[in-house]
Amino acid sequence: MIALEKISKSFGDRVILDELSLELAQGDVTAIVGPSGAGKSTLLRCIDFLERPDSGRVIVGDLTVDAETATRGEILALRRHTAMVFQQFQLFSRKTALENVAEGLIVIRGLDRRAAEREAHVQLDRVGLADHAGHYPSQLSGGQQQRVGIARALAMTPRVLLLDEPTSALDPELVGEVLQTIRAIAAEGQTMAIVSHEMHFVRQLADRILFLEGGRIAQDSPPEEFFGPGANPRTLAFLNDYH
Ligand code: ATP
Ligand code: MG
Repeated sequence: MIALEKISKSFGDRVILDELSLELAQGDVTAIVGPSGAGKSTLLRCIDFLERPDSGRVIVGDLTVDAETATRGEILALRRHTAMVFQQFQLFSRKTALENVAEGLIVIRGLDRRAAEREAHVQLDRVGLADHAGHYPSQLSGGQQQRVGIARALAMTPRVLLLDEPTSALDPELVGEVLQTIRAIAAEGQTMAIVSHEMHFVRQLADRILFLEGGRIAQDSPPEEFFGPGANPRTLAFLNDYH
């Protein structure tokens, strides 16, 4: 389980996250939705301290990282438990798919190249790209590039996989294959927090949906409730913008 306790983050005098607390239960898919600028990306980035919160704590297992006192070592320890999938893939353009996945295993996990590449093959196979291992990003479609991004994140065996709009940079016809990959990973029990505007997907996949607004979690409910008749008016107004 991962817990956030009273995480606050401001940029200048704008409060983005306001003493936000949250637990991500093991095996759960937690979707985070909300208006543009609500702080969804900031929230994900605060989980692994890519963005350092101003205050509050992130707790993973027996590790507690307090934003106000966190040491470099604690932040690195925290990052060993998390992995991020980015909207823009962020692959190394001069490395093959295999090398992209192997890189973290070598640099972060300390595996030798042979072992790292063997493991990278396993992860590429998981996302259906075993036969594209030698391709460079420019030789892959956007959907394939993002699946490499997912394989690279999975290679870190994260306790929680963080996905920030993983399909929003893709042409519409490529979205499906990436959602299918994420669905398969979720079915294997991977804990994840995902920011997505794909409401149909979120509705099918998420165990919980968080509606972020005004620096706080304005609603936290299972999909049937979130999309059901009892939804709160703000959430409904937000959802209506998508129809
Ligand atoms: P979107 O749906 O557009 O991706 P979001 O919910 O992910 O939005 P964030 O990217 O978390 O929103 O940004 C929240 C607010 O914080 C925005 O107003 C943004 O401009 C601001 N912000 C984000 N990162 C920074 C930064 N590094 N410096 C200053 N302001 C920032
Ligand atoms: Mg964002």
